[in-house]
Amino acid sequence: MTSSLSTVPCFIDGRDEQGSTWFDKIDPATGRVNGRVCEAGSELVERAVSAARRSLSGPWARTTLAERAAMLRRIADALEAHIDEIVDAEITDTGKPITATRNVEIPRAIANFRAFADIALAEEKADFYTPLAGGGRARNITVRAPIGVIGVVAPWNLPLLLLTWKVAPALVCGNAVVVKPSEHSPRTALLLARIATQAGLPEGVLNIVQGHGANAAGAHLTAHPGVDAITFTGETRTGEAIMKAASQGVRPVSLELGGKNAAVIFADSDIDAAAAGTVRSMFDNCGQVCLTTERILVQRPIYERFLESIVRHAETAIRPGDPRAQSTTLGPAISAEQRAKVLGFYDRALAAGASAVIGGGALQMPKPFNDGFWVQPSVFTGLPDDAEICRKEVFGPCAHVSPFDDEDEAVARVNASDYGLASALWSGDADRAERVARRIQSGTVWINCWRVRDERAAFGGFKKSGLGREGGEWSLDFYSELKTICRAE
Ligand code: NAD
Repeated sequence: MTSSLSTVPCFIDGRDEQGSTWFDKIDPATGRVNGRVCEAGSELVERAVSAARRSLSGPWARTTLAERAAMLRRIADALEAHIDEIVDAEITDTGKPITATRNVEIPRAIANFRAFADIALAEEKADFYTPLAGGGRARNITVRAPIGVIGVVAPWNLPLLLLTWKVAPALVCGNAVVVKPSEHSPRTALLLARIATQAGLPEGVLNIVQGHGANAAGAHLTAHPGVDAITFTGETRTGEAIMKAASQGVRPVSLELGGKNAAVIFADSDIDAAAAGTVRSMFDNCGQVCLTTERILVQRPIYERFLESIVRHAETAIRPGDPRAQSTTLGPAISAEQRAKVLGFYDRALAAGASAVIGGGALQMPKPFNDGFWVQPSVFTGLPDDAEICRKEVFGPCAHVSPFDDEDEAVARVNASDYGLASALWSGDADRAERVARRIQSGTVWINCWRVRDERAAFGGFKKSGLGREGGEWSLDFYSELKTICRAE
């Protein structure tokens, strides 16, 4: 297995495959080209879907659940054996800091395989009897059958983690998969497919088509009639295009989309813990997490103290630098476009009268990072809820903070959003926190914590943050057809 990955091909039917078109991959930390990626045209996508379909009449189709669960565990073991190479590839693509990548993201990506093996094996199937009119009874059992070929379209922000979140349950249910990773993060998807194949996954069961989205590999894949279901993580606007594509042939679609996540800090909270947690929730992964906090409501009596505490925590938490240095905690934005987008939000917020409590602009870095896509983590105050930066997803390291007076006001303002992915509540009053959590319109509500994720929990968004739920048995529901077998006895 090559370690440098300076060229990144597709992976089809158990082997690397490439066409004639390539595009440059830019290192976000330096702004320099660090590789060439195959752009899959419709012909390569066709081959990938055909290979996936063929695999469904091969040995994979005859595997038992126990055998597939064992396969997932072998893949996890094999990924662990290659963890340094995978971490390096993820950093090469994204510029993420090594500490979080090595200690959190890639281990969690690997853990998805073990978790979905456990979840599928532990599931209890419905098994009950129905009395028959003429006497006797019929036994009903519910079994899961694979759907067929699953098309996965993935984003760049947590590349391998969000990809295995879908590939693992799809495989344990017995499907074949074609993945289109983001054009910004092609490397770890390729490594996953190579390593899983070496670990014994039959040829054609997991295929990777590289390339862009609209009018390119992503659109070819989602429009392909040989794809039986589509699962997507990314922007809400792209989700609309994918849903339209899925409507051809009435195919199931799962959408994990954008957010404009709120944190509510009550006056009875532990201010220091709330500030530390909120700083993490704003700036982890340079704010490029769908669960990132971008709106903060602070109860008026502690408003000033909370802001001071945020500034104090930010000073120690934000350490931009070489992504491969252990001390670095902040990486760059993924691309020049993403940086321009984030800075545009900053400029317009300032022009509208916002104050920047911290940051507010581009981040100047020393060589060799001076041409990378760095932005300052930023906290704004002073704007009303209908300001652009309080309504639209920035997907960068920033939030707007404003005061509130009572519980009802906080709930109404959190819910006055087109999105509903995740929220965080900080309060010392457990009853109040629970009461407010139940009134908030978001798929996940954290109380006195943030981004604590358990693969068994349902995950997804209200409103424009998504369609359907994945996680635990909800993933199994999406990636399988339920079948009732009713036998008269
Ligand atoms: P994006 O929508 O731009 O791209 C995601 C993927 O879709 C990429 O692989 C891209 O090539 C592909 N794509 C783009 N247009 C397409 C089309 N017309 N047809 C088929 N494929 C197409 O999103 P992104 O910039 O990669 O990711 C950031 C977004 O993802 C943010 O909005 C973030 O909130 C969201 N996100 C959501 C979750 C969640 O779980 N809800 C998780 C992570 C990221």
